[in-house]
Amino acid sequence: AKKLDLERILQRQGFGTRKMCRILIINEQVTVNGELCNDPDALFALENLHFTIDGVAWEYREHSYLMMHKPAHYECSHKTQFHPTIYSLLPPPLVERDIQCIGRLDEDTTGLILLSDDGQFIHKVSSPKHHVPKIYAVTCKHAVSDSDLQTLLAGVKLIDEEQTIAALEVSRVSENVIHMTLAEGKYHQVKRMIAAMGNRVEYLKRIKIGRLALPEDLQPGEWRWLSEQDLAALK
Ligand code: URA
Repeated sequence: AKKLDLERILQRQGFGTRKMCRILIINEQVTVNGELCNDPDALFALENLHFTIDGVAWEYREHSYLMMHKPAHYECSHKTQFHPTIYSLLPPPLVERDIQCIGRLDEDTTGLILLSDDGQFIHKVSSPKHHVPKIYAVTCKHAVSDSDLQTLLAGVKLIDEEQTIAALEVSRVSENVIHMTLAEGKYHQVKRMIAAMGNRVEYLKRIKIGRLALPEDLQPGEWRWLSEQDLAALK
């Protein structure tokens, strides 16, 4: 099995420059697989590698895959202007690993968003070719009629788009609330499709990506690692 020195392991996992990681180790702030290790050059296999830094537990991960319940009034951007960034809700080492969100949600949109530092995975989930559908709960200002639902399925013409654009599925939850499944993720797509019918989105929440649903116990602002099962639900 491949082995790597502890200093480089910590650096690759996002705990700062090699020099900074060396100091953490020499200062006896790091344990590996349950034991203190103050030798920056000590070699460890990467499989099942558990370490702690200042008592905080970490597990070695080649790549990171996670989901977040995006709260309102956070922006999906590294450099934000008016609101805090969703990246501020993650531990700094993950941000250091250059984790990116997969597709963006508007500042006022809440719900499921995926993040990763695996370029191939990001491409796969976000590419229109792979057709990973996204499902939104859409609260509208005015009641949505049956003919509105038919219109969304038939396709609406959006300003600045050549082709009409249709929802894959729609269903009504209450007078003003619908669930809408989209194949693409165009700029403000849900809001623009609802606006094209003379209605208006009051509240928008993404509840599903592929077969992966936003877990009910994941509160706004919280994140968690994707399990093997979660990853399979995106295929
Ligand atoms: N469609 C929108 O209009 N906004 C989002 O945040 C996502 C989809």
